[in-house]
Amino acid sequence: MHRDIQAGHAAAVDPFSAVADAVYRIDRSWHFTYVNAAAAQLLDRRAEDLVGRYAFDCFPEMAGTVIDHEYRAVLADGRAREFEYFSSPLGRWYEIRAFADPGGLTAFLRDVDAQHRTEQRRTAELAQLGAVLEALPPATVVLDGDGRIEMVNRAWTANGEELERSGDRPTRAGERYLDAMARYVDTEHHECIAAGLRGLAGTENQAGSTFTLDYPQQIGPIHAWYRLQAARVDASDRIIVTHTDITERVRDQEALAWQAGHDDLTGLPNRARLLQLIGEALRRGSGRAALLFLDLDGFKTVNDSLGHEVGDELLRQVGGRLAEQVRPGDAVGRLGGDQFLVLARDCETAEAAALAFRLQTSFARPFHVAGISVPLSASIGVAAAQPGIDRAHELLSDADTAAFAAKGAGRDRVHVFSPGLREAARWRLEVANRLRDGAVDEFVVHYQPLVRVDTGEIEGVEALLRWQHPERGLLTPDAFLSVAEETGQLIPITRWLLGETTRQAATWAEQGLALRMSVNISARHFSAETLVRDVRVALHDSGLDPENLVLELTETSVAEDPTRAEDQLAVLRGFGVRVAIDDFGTGWSSLAQLLALPIGTLKIDRSLLTAAARLAAGGTGAVLAAIVSLARTLGIRSVAEGVETAEHLQMVREAGCDLAQGYLLAHPMPASDVPRWASRVRAAGGDSCALALQTRSR
Ligand code: C2E
Ligand code: CA
Ligand code: CA
Repeated sequence: MHRDIQAGHAAAVDPFSAVADAVYRIDRSWHFTYVNAAAAQLLDRRAEDLVGRYAFDCFPEMAGTVIDHEYRAVLADGRAREFEYFSSPLGRWYEIRAFADPGGLTAFLRDVDAQHRTEQRRTAELAQLGAVLEALPPATVVLDGDGRIEMVNRAWTANGEELERSGDRPTRAGERYLDAMARYVDTEHHECIAAGLRGLAGTENQAGSTFTLDYPQQIGPIHAWYRLQAARVDASDRIIVTHTDITERVRDQEALAWQAGHDDLTGLPNRARLLQLIGEALRRGSGRAALLFLDLDGFKTVNDSLGHEVGDELLRQVGGRLAEQVRPGDAVGRLGGDQFLVLARDCETAEAAALAFRLQTSFARPFHVAGISVPLSASIGVAAAQPGIDRAHELLSDADTAAFAAKGAGRDRVHVFSPGLREAARWRLEVANRLRDGAVDEFVVHYQPLVRVDTGEIEGVEALLRWQHPERGLLTPDAFLSVAEETGQLIPITRWLLGETTRQAATWAEQGLALRMSVNISARHFSAETLVRDVRVALHDSGLDPENLVLELTETSVAEDPTRAEDQLAVLRGFGVRVAIDDFGTGWSSLAQLLALPIGTLKIDRSLLTAAARLAAGGTGAVLAAIVSLARTLGIRSVAEGVETAEHLQMVREAGCDLAQGYLLAHPMPASDVPRWASRVRAAGGDSCALALQTRSR
């Protein structure tokens, strides 16, 4: 029958002669019935040597191979088969398709060796790539030239499972990468990724080009940051994309950025951040903004006495309380130490001052820390942006200046900035500079007599510092003393002054004018260790009798640390030096505590005298008298300061004061005037009080 077919067809036209594929047919008994030219060539036999022969005789090696199996199957069930076959004798790969036909089967053979090897290489390559991918910790995909996901690594799969758990569909191989990414990243970043990949795929790009992008990703409630890095794989058109989780790094950076702008202790914006915020407020819209500069009163004392932990907690509470008072959009920050700043946006001076008073009132309630109730107050400076001010630090400096003025006016004050204050601030700066550059040469000392109230005899003088300023003339201490104190110049100045005054007193004593010399000592100098030595050096160098030196200390400088003060005073007292408490009545120290110290004199502040003078109109100078008598029972002499009028003198006399000092008796005067003044008193009988009253009534 096969012969019929062959005869029937072959005689007419060989249907496969023009086919490039090798084609042959075998009948059900495995005899070749047809072999086309390509097949003959491929099998390396002549067609006529094969046709009519039993296949296994021609190719014994075929037995038991895949061909054997597949052909049998085709012949058995009549269904076509397609398979690959490696011919060992030829050493090549073939693709074989076998179709059943009525006489047996027709086989098409194609040499796929080259193709097969490429495929194999590709598979090997992918396997290799896959191994590399698996070793990569970040979620990684390999894209084919069409942007489809060809391969994913375990980390990517794990991420996918995570996604699945949060209800999302995981991405699988075969899907378009950009479609998948569209589900995780926002449009803006998606566009960046698409553009980056297009750039990589572009023909002008060589293998080895890369593209990097950091993007945020929101999966369910989890907000994460990833770094995408895409690179071409060698010469192929594949792109490998890694997705590294950089959330922690970004958080760290964010935390650093946050820290850079915030105060560790309170979590409030710090100086740098505040300046930024002020700048923004000034640039925005109307440019109206006001600053409130708060400086806590006496916070150092709180810190020293209650400990830093309590101090820190107090600062946190202060920050919290301020934040409660401001409007949304305003800012509260800490400049450091006990200084806070409130930035009020769209706010003019009047409103800002109102806010300042509100803040002040909010301090009326004491703060509670560690079971202690701590009362606090603040000095508040207010500065509103002026048309000329467009820079943040200028406004801050104005608010600072105003706060400084508030502080200077006493505690718990609000002070609004004025250009005059800026002038004052400028002056302070100039003073600081000049002091540093040796203005000590320009200092002079004036002396104001202290006289006995009962006899009018001259007791001594108080040395008062003056600055002979080359342009501004003679300046009194209030123009420069606080700057000198702040810049640390006051101690060297006082050292100089101790030398100068003791020498002066010794000179006068030699001339027969024995005067007790009073020198003012600042609190800082008193708490520094050098005071005792400075005094000893001055006494030694001048030869002045220590009994004729009086150190004037303010009650606050002594009250700050009474135990220490007591030790210092004891040492000074040991030299024979006397100590006076100055400005008594301006602090809050307990009289009993003060009088327990080894002091010789109590100088009653002018303010007490004027207050007593007002009261005296109602018939009493009782307060003054009470202080004086209490001091006297303890062997302490009292001095009335600021005796300006006959009434004052009368009053201090009635109160029993021992000594008086004031313009009524004598103004501070240069050293050269002192002997002249003393001889005038002597000439008038030695009673300076009588002389003063006489001079006045004339
Ligand atoms: P203080 O120690 O209370 O000095 C008395 C001040 O009152 C002096 O002012 C004096 O001129 C002024 N004064 C005297 N009598 C009267 C009066 O009748 N009426 C009025 N209204 N004032 C009178 P000054 O010289 O301006 O000194 C001011 C303050 O500066 C002093 O107050 C003292 O605390 C400080 N000071 C002055 N010289 C020195 C110094 O050498 N060292 C230190 N550490 N402080 C000094
Ligand atoms: Ca004094
Ligand atoms: Ca005084």
